[in-house]
Amino acid sequence: MVAEQWTGISEELRYEIGESNHKNWIAPLECLGIRDGVVRFRAPSRFVGDWVKRTYHDQIFSRLQTIGTDVTRMEFIVGEPAQRAATTTATATANKISSGDELQGAPLDGKYNFDNFVVGKPNELAHAAARRVAEGGPVTFNPLFLYGGVGLGKTHLMHAIAWELKAKRPDLQVLYLSAEQFMYRFVQALRDREIMDFKNLFRSVDVLMVDDVQFIAGKDSTQEEFFHTFNALVDQNKQIVISADRAPGEIKDLEARISSRMQCGLVVDLHPTNYELRLGILHRKAAQFAQSYGSIKIDDGVFEFLAHRITTNVRVLEGALQRLFAFSSLIGQEVSQDMVQDCLSDMLRSSERRVTVEEIQRKVAEHFNIRLSDMLGPKRTRTIARPRQIAMYLSKEMTSRSLPEIGRRFGGRDHTTILHGVRKVIEMREQDNQLNEDIELLRRLLES
Ligand code: ADP
Ligand code: MG
Repeated sequence: MVAEQWTGISEELRYEIGESNHKNWIAPLECLGIRDGVVRFRAPSRFVGDWVKRTYHDQIFSRLQTIGTDVTRMEFIVGEPAQRAATTTATATANKISSGDELQGAPLDGKYNFDNFVVGKPNELAHAAARRVAEGGPVTFNPLFLYGGVGLGKTHLMHAIAWELKAKRPDLQVLYLSAEQFMYRFVQALRDREIMDFKNLFRSVDVLMVDDVQFIAGKDSTQEEFFHTFNALVDQNKQIVISADRAPGEIKDLEARISSRMQCGLVVDLHPTNYELRLGILHRKAAQFAQSYGSIKIDDGVFEFLAHRITTNVRVLEGALQRLFAFSSLIGQEVSQDMVQDCLSDMLRSSERRVTVEEIQRKVAEHFNIRLSDMLGPKRTRTIARPRQIAMYLSKEMTSRSLPEIGRRFGGRDHTTILHGVRKVIEMREQDNQLNEDIELLRRLLES
C-alpha cells in the first residue's frame, strides 16, 4: 500500500468516526507501508498506537482488505512523523507511558469553544455552569456533572472549559480525558508497576475533566481508583468536571458511593434540542463551513427543513450540512431543496420511521410495568393514569394523528381527555426531572 491509499482510507474514517476522533487518533499516524502481511504505522506515542489498535482495528482492516491488501497484523513504531521530525531535533519520543507529558490528556478540538457553542433553552443551564467553571475562580460547586444524550454538546462544553482555562489561567494544570482513557492509563500503570506515578499524576492536577464516565461503571478496580482520585482532588478543593450519558443515579453498576459523591456538586442536564436551537446551530455551522468550502448559496427553507427533520442529535445534523456543502462545492451549484432530497435521502429516510400510537402504548406500558389493557381501560389510579398520560403525550408528539384519532386508540376516549393528558405532561415536565428522563428514554427507544 502506498501513502495515497492510506490517505483515502484516513478520509473515509473521518466520516465514520467523526472529526475529532479522526484528528486525535488517525491523523497523527504515518503509514510506513505493508510488508509480509503487516501494516506499519508511525505513531506519536505508544498510547496513540495502542489506542488505535484497540479501537479502530476492525475499521482499518476491513478497508485495507477492500483495497486488496492481505494484511493480518498492524504494528506501530513510536516517533514523530518524518515531516515534523525533520524540523525538530531527533526526538527519541518517550515510548514509555509514564512521567512528564502524560498530563496533556486527550487533545482538544479547536472548534469546540464557547464562541461556537449555540445557546438555547435546552442547554442554557449547562452552558452557564460551564462558563462559571471556566472562569477559574474559587470552586463553587464540585463536581460539575453534565449529562445528556448523545451528540448534545457535552464534549463540546468540556473542551470549551479547557480552552478558556488555558487562556485565562495558564498557571492551572488542566487535564481532560475520557473515562475510557482514564481506565486505559490505569490498567497500563498497573501492568507497568507505575501505579504510584499514576496516582501522583492525577492528584497533581488543578482541574480534572472526565468525559463519558458511564464507561467505568461495572469496571470495579477502575471505579475504585477513580473514586480515590476524585476524593483526593475534592479534598484539595480542585475543580472536577464529569460528563455522562445519564444522571449519576441512573448509571447502572456505578457504585452508590461514587454516584452519591457526584451528586454533591451541581448536576445539570443537556436537554434534547428543540427546533429553534437546531436552527441556530445550523446557521452557526454554515458560517463555519463557509470558511472551508467558500460561501455557498443555500435556498430559503433548507435550514428550516433540516431543523425540522433531523431531530436526533446535533452530530447528525452537522453531518448533513457538511455533506451538502461538500456536494455543492463539488458540483458548483447552490444548495436547493432538491439537492437536499437527493443528497440526504438516507438520513431523511431513517428519520422518517413512523411510530404508531400502538407502539407507543406498548413501550410505555412495558416501561412502567403496567398491563396494556389497563393503559387502554378505565382505571384512574395514579400508577396507571400517569403512564397513560405519558403515552398520550408521546402519541401527540411523535405521530401525526389528531387528538380525536388518538382518543379512539385509547379505548375510545374523548379528544378533550387526550388534550388534558398532553397538557398535564407538559406542565409536569417543567419540574420533574425523572419524568423528563423517562420520556426521553422512551422517545429514543421508539425512534431507534
Ligand atoms: P456529546 O459529547 O454530548 O455526545 P458533542 O459535544 O460531541 O456531543 O457534540 C456533537 C457535535 O454537535 C459536535 O460537533 C458539537 O460541536 C455539536 N454541538 C452540539 N451542541 C452544540 C451547540 N449547542 N452549539 C454548537 N454545536 C453543538
Ligand atoms: Mg461526548
